Amino acid sequence: MSRVFNFSPGPSALPEAVLAQARDELLDWHSTGMSVMEMSHRSKAYVALAEQAEADLRELMDIPAHYKVLFLQGGASGQFAAIPMNLLRGHRCAVYLDTGLWSEKAIAEARHYADVQVAASSRADHYTTIPDRSRWDIDPQAAYFHYTSNETIGGVQFHGIPEVGDLPRVVDMSSDLLSRPVDVSRFGLIYAGAQKNMGPSGITVVIVREDLIGQALPITPSVLDYRKQADNGSMLNTPPTFNWYLLGLVLQWLKAQGGLSAMAQLNQAKAQKLYAAIEQSGFYNNPVDVGCRSLMNVPFRLPDPALEKPFLESARQAGLVNLEGHRSVGGLRASLYNAMPLAGVEALVTFMGEFARTHG
Ligand code: PMP
Repeated sequence: MSRVFNFSPGPSALPEAVLAQARDELLDWHSTGMSVMEMSHRSKAYVALAEQAEADLRELMDIPAHYKVLFLQGGASGQFAAIPMNLLRGHRCAVYLDTGLWSEKAIAEARHYADVQVAASSRADHYTTIPDRSRWDIDPQAAYFHYTSNETIGGVQFHGIPEVGDLPRVVDMSSDLLSRPVDVSRFGLIYAGAQKNMGPSGITVVIVREDLIGQALPITPSVLDYRKQADNGSMLNTPPTFNWYLLGLVLQWLKAQGGLSAMAQLNQAKAQKLYAAIEQSGFYNNPVDVGCRSLMNVPFRLPDPALEKPFLESARQAGLVNLEGHRSVGGLRASLYNAMPLAGVEALVTFMGEFARTHG
């Protein structure tokens, strides 16, 4: 067996220890004589596993008791609809900040249910920055303020929590949840698809302040109704049991690594190494404003797009894969989620140096 360094933006690399444990437990989970995949989600053993995952997430993120934690299906994209359906609470308007292609998608979906006010947009800057706070326009009567903490495609990340008056903050943390500590109490709702830092695709985490739920629009499908899911332990219908199990293993792995502060330190070190290599190369280029560069997704360009194909091919031969940029923007991109070891970034930096020397 040989494993590569996988820089995929998602679904992405999982910790090897987690994959090995899942392999070892696949046919007989905890002496039950069956796979966790074959078990009823209502069984005592499975409910205990599901509750343990929630307890571990609460511990890792220090989630206050008045927040509900939900494990849902439909991805972050499902939440783009569920959020206005659940959180309008009699308001008509919701405010969205537009910092990239994922913000755009959240806005487009919300427009089916709400009057969306776009506080500001960096579209004219090709999504290489966060609009200056002084230029945001926020209706104080709106139901909530939505933003994307890390734009996976553009490589733009918030390094602080924006001030938005009294509006509940709703944040898409799909590509940076669990990569660093976060003060949950400053948010109305945090959501993320699992497939970057948390586990496999197919399971979505929603962390929501309890006083905000219970007033969903009448058209809300029951499986997207936060109150109904909260009252049923996220088991209103059959949950994605195997994905939930894998997510639980990743949470245990994160605890064993020293938790989110340790992850933040490692993620900082990895990203610094790669950005420094890009800056110093005089060959590669990252277009994002220095103050909002992402620690998770590092897009970069070569002096000539014709070099991209040979770059990707040589990288693949060196065991460095999934470095192509998103199909909508092209270029190259390295995603450095929790499961990417420092050694992977070191190997990439060495490769990039060599490629620049031979093609510069
Ligand atoms: N938001 C962000 C920031 C993302 O990166 C993604 C997926 N890459 C999504 C939303 C959509 O997630 P999903 O595919 O789980 O619906």
